[in-house]
Amino acid sequence: MSASSIPTTKLPSGRTIPTFGLGTWRMGENARKRRDEVDALRHGLDLGITLIDTAEMYGDGEAEGIVADAVGNDRDKVFIVSKVLPENATRRGTIAACERSLKRLKTGRIDLYLLHWRGSPPLEETLEAFSALRRAGKILDWGVSNFDMADMKKLAELSPGEEPGTNQVLYNLTRRGIEFDLMPWCRKRGVPVMAYSPIEQGRMLGHPALRAVGERLGATPAQIALAWLLRQDGAIVIPKAGSRPHVEEDIAALDVKLDRDDLAALDRAFPPPSKARPLDML
Ligand code: NAP
Repeated sequence: MSASSIPTTKLPSGRTIPTFGLGTWRMGENARKRRDEVDALRHGLDLGITLIDTAEMYGDGEAEGIVADAVGNDRDKVFIVSKVLPENATRRGTIAACERSLKRLKTGRIDLYLLHWRGSPPLEETLEAFSALRRAGKILDWGVSNFDMADMKKLAELSPGEEPGTNQVLYNLTRRGIEFDLMPWCRKRGVPVMAYSPIEQGRMLGHPALRAVGERLGATPAQIALAWLLRQDGAIVIPKAGSRPHVEEDIAALDVKLDRDDLAALDRAFPPPSKARPLDML
């Protein structure tokens, strides 16, 4: 497999989304890094990646500008995810935030628009705004992020018969809590889970088990961590890479195949949850 044949999964709306894309948190925070950040994303697109995750929060909107520059004239080939901050997520605030994001992204539509995490504005208002934005064609799908089981149940009560496009949550080998309840719940309803911080922002890469499995397969620890997520049914994986070498290394995880022994070794080093745990967040 390569980036030109990245698998897709279905959103509840029936639209498809690639299961591998690039994140943008921490981009747009340092003007001196801007050119490299645009270049890294553009390199990913040139290698066949077609999913980018961003948010109005990242770099105070600058990350969305970086996405616009990287995407350029290829807008129709790219699936863009962005997010509204909870403090803006009232009915009117969500619509205004989305308009600002569209302007920075230099596009007329966001493919999937998420509530970044649950805040004080009533969820009903955010959902009303998402519906209005969808009717206007400004977003194609809506979803949520950092929603735990209780939040997902509340959401199901408020939008009966309509599932969110995704729940974007912290998920990697060192953060497996969602496997106990949230992930099965989402799977049952056809809601893909989008795994953020899939390599734990680099903190997990020195782990001996990742190194050992990597050595066996001729892969790096980051590739093992990403390959482990990529084989999960209904998971979408969005590492952030700020340089060409990291983009290339992360894409190559699509070619890493973990066998039963590798998976057992990873389970021993990073045991799956045996009881419900509060949702981890970064
Ligand atoms: P991550 O993807 O787990 O890690 C990113 C870090 O790992 C960066 O410092 C990057 O360095 C480094 N890296 C990337 N590829 C590498 C490789 N092959 N070898 C060694 N280091 C590598 O963490 P993340 O950025 O927190 O998460 C990914 C995306 O998920 C974010 O960018 C954002 O879009 C989204 N996210 C969403 C939420 C939410 O609340 N919804 C929270 C966190 C993240 P370089 O930059 O130098 O390449």
